[in-house]
Amino acid sequence: MILKDKLFAAGVVGCGGAGFPTHVKLSGEIEHLIINGAECEPLLRTDRYIMTNFASELVRTAEAVRQEISADKCTFGLKSGYKKEIAALKEQISENGLADRIFIHTMDSFYPAGDEQTLVREVTGKTVPPAGIPLDVGCAVTNAATLLCISDALKDIPFTDKFLTVTGEVNHPTVLKVPIGTSFYDCLSLAGGVKCDDYICVSGGPMMGRIIEKADLDKEFVTKTTSGILVLRNDGYIANHNRISVKHMLNRAHSACIQCSYCTQMCPRHLMGHPLEPHKIMRKTALCADINGLLSDPDIKNALLCCECGICETYACPMDLQPRKINSMLKKALGEAGIRYPKGEGMGDESPSRELRKVPSKKAAVRAGVVDYYDYEITELICAEPSEVYENLRQHIGAQSEPLIRDGERVTKGQLIAKCPDGKLGANLHASIDGVASVHGCAIRIVKA
Ligand code: SF4
Ligand code: SF4
Repeated sequence: MILKDKLFAAGVVGCGGAGFPTHVKLSGEIEHLIINGAECEPLLRTDRYIMTNFASELVRTAEAVRQEISADKCTFGLKSGYKKEIAALKEQISENGLADRIFIHTMDSFYPAGDEQTLVREVTGKTVPPAGIPLDVGCAVTNAATLLCISDALKDIPFTDKFLTVTGEVNHPTVLKVPIGTSFYDCLSLAGGVKCDDYICVSGGPMMGRIIEKADLDKEFVTKTTSGILVLRNDGYIANHNRISVKHMLNRAHSACIQCSYCTQMCPRHLMGHPLEPHKIMRKTALCADINGLLSDPDIKNALLCCECGICETYACPMDLQPRKINSMLKKALGEAGIRYPKGEGMGDESPSRELRKVPSKKAAVRAGVVDYYDYEITELICAEPSEVYENLRQHIGAQSEPLIRDGERVTKGQLIAKCPDGKLGANLHASIDGVASVHGCAIRIVKA
């Protein structure tokens, strides 16, 4: 079986982002395979743990993939402060005699170094065109956690367990390895429990993660893309900003946006040469009564280029406004109106100030109100198996997986329980524990017998 068949069979999808199926991502004319070890979000430690402790598997798998896709070279992109991780990878590259094919590129500790397009620019000097993908400049990017899943897939081991960081207001910040479908409550218990009564959770990191109110926590289960769970006090910056509605933000922008353009000057996509100018979007939306009437405006269409990194609102804006929130709303409205961004349109020159305007990761954490949780070491991995899991049928980009089990059927860990629909973009799903399975809405529940 060739690599892509094995990845498809094992249900491998990108572990850190939206869950793009990896067998599709590694298709096309790829010259340069880039392994994302930047761990973009300031507080997460998952990829760092994996790079330190599974360096041998990562390096050997990177070379196997490079050969299979006929890429000229492979580069691990990390922050220069990741000394242990860099040393572990270098040792394995040297031991395996791969120094002429596998390289390490180090970067300053800035946010968003792990953004796919930013990483491609840092490692290769090439700029992905507006609305483009790394393949447009001959690259494929996969993160360290996904590479470990690829390593398993090459041994015909399906993707059933997930590494994730649990940190913030918990007693023992840690990295977990748990079956897909484990409840967030179980993950919080494994991290020693929550230290305060009134809290929110963030699925992912503080800059781009999804906010979950405490009352909704019982509906949350680990998926293939859960990179971390961050617990934060309910009265902090992130909790308060999340509760501001788009309507309220537009009202505030109407009266408070001073058109300083700092949001544009600090925007990583704008600095790269993409025609995204959030200050213009804020001006036009704040002055318009009907957003739908604006959708054909070229400045508004540029919202489609926003990667939602949050620099504009968490770091740049002196008036505490939220251009990202407005862009996110516009992206949805543009998508519903069938408006797409033509790839490559409006590509400009990179800003000469790009280097100077990189935001140090720790400063991003300060502005997001999470610096208290910034410095910590992960010393051990906690592995656990819960008594039940809920495996969502859509944990990836593409079509929902189709259940293959009957209610009450006994399944064993690794068994295929839902398949990618024929001919569609999607991913297979496997039982993450042994037990009795049943379909519950858009998830499969497995209870240990
Ligand atoms: S969130 Fe803001 S800073 Fe980030 S890409 Fe979008 S507009 Fe630019
Ligand atoms: S940084 Fe804030 S105040 Fe300045 S233009 Fe952007 S949204 Fe307006």
